Amino acid sequence: MVRIRSKREIELMAESCQIVGDTLDMLADHVKPGITVLELDSMAEDFIRSRNARPAFKGYLGFPATLCVSVEDEVVHGIPSERILEDGHIVGIDCGAEKSGYFGDAARTFAVGNITDEKQALMDATRDAMFIGIDKARPGNFVSDIGHAIQTFAEAKGYSVVRELVGHGIGTELHEEPQVPNYGIPKQGHELKEGMCLAIEPMINLGAKEVFTDKDGWTIKTVDGKSSAHFENTIAILADGPQILTQGQA
Ligand code: MG
Ligand code: MG
Repeated sequence: MVRIRSKREIELMAESCQIVGDTLDMLADHVKPGITVLELDSMAEDFIRSRNARPAFKGYLGFPATLCVSVEDEVVHGIPSERILEDGHIVGIDCGAEKSGYFGDAARTFAVGNITDEKQALMDATRDAMFIGIDKARPGNFVSDIGHAIQTFAEAKGYSVVRELVGHGIGTELHEEPQVPNYGIPKQGHELKEGMCLAIEPMINLGAKEVFTDKDGWTIKTVDGKSSAHFENTIAILADGPQILTQGQA
C-alpha cells in the first residue's frame, strides 16, 4: 500500500529530513584526506542525537552504524571502519534520521581533496539525474516516469544505472512502498498522487552496471571496480509538484 501523508505528517517529515540535510552539510566540511570513516560516523551520530532525533540506519536489519559510507567502487551500504579517506577518492555518504516517528533519508557523493575530471563529471551527472527524476514526481505521473528520466539522462552521458537497488516510499518507516527504480519505461507502476513521500536515489556507475555484495554482507560494489556515485533526497509530492524535504546544498 502506498501511503498518502497529511499536511501535518509532511511537516513532521520535514523536521526529520531537515536534520538529515543539516547532518550532510556538517559532514561536508570534514570530508578531507586523512579523516577516518568512523570519525565521520561518530560526528553524524552526535549531531543527530543533539537534535533530539535518532540515527535511522543504526540497528536497521542489524546495520551497525549511523552512516553508510561508500568509497570509490563501493556503490552503497559501506560500513564505517577505520579506513582513512585519501586524496582523489569520491565518497558516497548516506544518512537517515527518525524523529517523532517520521523518517528522512538522503545521500550525497563528496570529493576528497582533488579528484579527476572523470570522477567529477560522474558526480555532477548523478546529482543532475536525481533532480531530473525528482522533477517527474508530480500528481498524474507514474512511478516509472521517475526512473525513465534518470536512465535516459545517465545513459546518454555514457554511464550505467544500477538495477539491484532502488528508491522507495518513506514516512513512518524508513522503507515503504512503492519501490522507485532508477530505470524503466514510462507510465508503469503506481500513479503518483499528492501526499506521497518518496526517497529518489540514483546510483550511477562510470563503467558497467553490474554490482555484487562484498563478503561483509552489506557493501555493494561494482563488478568492474570502476567508480560509482549516489545522490538521494526525500521529497513530498504536493499538488503543484515535488517539495524536497532533505534540503541542503545537493
Ligand atoms: Mg539513503
Ligand atoms: Mg533511501
